[in-house]
Amino acid sequence: MSIRGFTSFFYLSSPNSRTFFFIHFHIRIYMSPPIRIGVGYDIHPLKQGRRCILGGVEIPSEVGPDGHSDADVLCHAIADAILGAAGLRDIGFYFPNTDPACKDMCSLDILRCAVAEVGKRGYALQNIDAVVIAERPKIAAHIAAMQASLAAALGIAPDCVGVKATTNEKLDDLGAGLGIAVHAVALIAKI
Ligand code: MG
Repeated sequence: MSIRGFTSFFYLSSPNSRTFFFIHFHIRIYMSPPIRIGVGYDIHPLKQGRRCILGGVEIPSEVGPDGHSDADVLCHAIADAILGAAGLRDIGFYFPNTDPACKDMCSLDILRCAVAEVGKRGYALQNIDAVVIAERPKIAAHIAAMQASLAAALGIAPDCVGVKATTNEKLDDLGAGLGIAVHAVALIAKI
């Protein structure tokens, strides 16, 4: 009997819809791909006097990403990659920038939420990789600290957290130092 036929059999034979959905849910987990990837992107403008927090690490700087939360653009891109790997909605869905409860929130908590959400669907995060595009501030000296901070929040080893930095070669607004952008990917595997 095919999987579809199997679930149809239970649907037709069981008057208990909760039983059907329980079985259907577990069959869906069984059938889902063993590994999945996701991609995330975020960009924030830089503002004078804002704290510059990237990957949960505060970097000495006269400017920092502006935003409703702590504006940790690195965490945001990684969270979207993790959620996307599981086919879930973006972080704006879970943490609207109109929600007062999200005001100045620590974005490491957003990462913990993303990992928990994929965990509910039977997946565990394996590794992430990210590219930070910024003309300023210079972050190379802080990358090891970011890896450790992100790894702790994500529940994976620091060597499973890739953080790379590049500039926009003076091109466009990013190149003029007006903002910071991040691209990220995440790999999740069935538990
Ligand atoms: Mg953001």
